[in-house]
Amino acid sequence: MNSLSAPCVVVGGGPAGMMLGYLLARAGVEVLVLEKHGDFLRDFRGDTVHPSTLQVMHELLLLDRFLALPHQRIAELRVRVRDRMIPVADFTHLPIRCRFIAMMPQWDFLNFLAREGERYPSFRLLMSTEATSLIEEEGRVVGVKARGPGGPFEIRASLVVGANGRQSPLTGQSGLTGASFGAPMDVLWFRLSRRTDDPMDAMGTFAAGQILVSLNRGDYWQCAYVIPKGTLDDLRRRGLPDFGVIGVPTTVPLIAIVDDDDSMRGAISGLMRAVGFAAASFSSAEDFLNSEQVEHAKCLIADVNMPGMSGLDLHRHLVQSGNRIPTILVTAYPNEVVRSRALAAGVLCYFTKPFPEHDMLACINSALNGNCTG
Ligand SMILES: Cc1cc2nc3c(=O)[nH]c(=O)nc-3n(C[C@H](O)[C@H](O)[C@H](O)COP(=O)(O)OP(=O)(O)OC[C@H]3O[C@@H](n4cnc5c(N)ncnc54)[C@H](O)[C@@H]3O)c2cc1C
Repeated sequence: MNSLSAPCVVVGGGPAGMMLGYLLARAGVEVLVLEKHGDFLRDFRGDTVHPSTLQVMHELLLLDRFLALPHQRIAELRVRVRDRMIPVADFTHLPIRCRFIAMMPQWDFLNFLAREGERYPSFRLLMSTEATSLIEEEGRVVGVKARGPGGPFEIRASLVVGANGRQSPLTGQSGLTGASFGAPMDVLWFRLSRRTDDPMDAMGTFAAGQILVSLNRGDYWQCAYVIPKGTLDDLRRRGLPDFGVIGVPTTVPLIAIVDDDDSMRGAISGLMRAVGFAAASFSSAEDFLNSEQVEHAKCLIADVNMPGMSGLDLHRHLVQSGNRIPTILVTAYPNEVVRSRALAAGVLCYFTKPFPEHDMLACINSALNGNCTG
């Protein structure tokens, strides 16, 4: 049987083992990290990289390279309880470098640590290599037996670190016992497709006895559905609930914004998303009419004066074509005649820019609650 030796062997190339291997190698300690899988692909595991972890990456001078990897940022977490969006975490106040959670697949994180570790000659990572048992001599652990692509071999080491996760025969063999905290729930993870007009932010939805967390992963939602421990079999029999009822993000009302002024369009879209609506914006009435969103919008905010079709003409066109989207007009050039015509034509509210946010939101809520003549 072949044999290797190293001052330190780390069993397990998860976040704990890879980070320890990196830190030891960086400190000049020769280290072997063994990972039984051939890659780091573990879907959904550790995808939220928290601000405290990012701070560690910053202190290790790894942050800039790390954040060059594709990721999404979450600066605020909000939960929806019934129809209300409630902020529960705002990372923007943290007194550290990164005031957000970075959403990144764990395999990107681990591949990154592997690449960084390989900059040091004292770091060695053996993939597809499983530690099969501990080697004990005179009551001391002095290494591990392992099986790799080339067959079984031994590694002699002054220090063996088990970073092999929760369920591993090595842990039992070591005589160490874990502490169980008795978590009363399980989490089902799944993907839902994400539409371009869905809200940007991550959110949790709470309803009676139901918790659903939805994380924005670009073209899909990563969803975590929390169930009481021991109820999985029952759920399998009953099937998943109607998430539309407990309110997944796709049911968030869509507000369409049509304005040729880029900054105004951006500001209104930002406001809509901040209060939990989905927003789709267009620089002209024609673009909106040619889009799919014309079928989905629950409320329309349109500028009065635009090149091409005006906001009032857009409203009239929609009414004539039988699509009575509640409409709010905004303008930088208030005109009493136009205002009267607009209200007579069924426009819900007419605001002069800049308008008070709470007036706009009150008008939208009124539209969504059906209190409009449309
Ligand atoms: C579904 C899910 C979602 C999660 N989401 C998040 C999240 O969003 N954010 C977050 O921070 N944390 C999250 N976690 C927790 C996070 O994944 C764990 O805290 C973390 O992976 C623990 O790291 P670890 O290195 O201790 O163990 P593990 O990640 O379990 O790594 C152990 C490694 O050891 C290897 N191994 C085992 N036995 C051997 C052996 N005999 N020889 C060689 N290799 C071996 C395994 O293949 C594995 O790669 C999530 C966990 C789960 C299950």
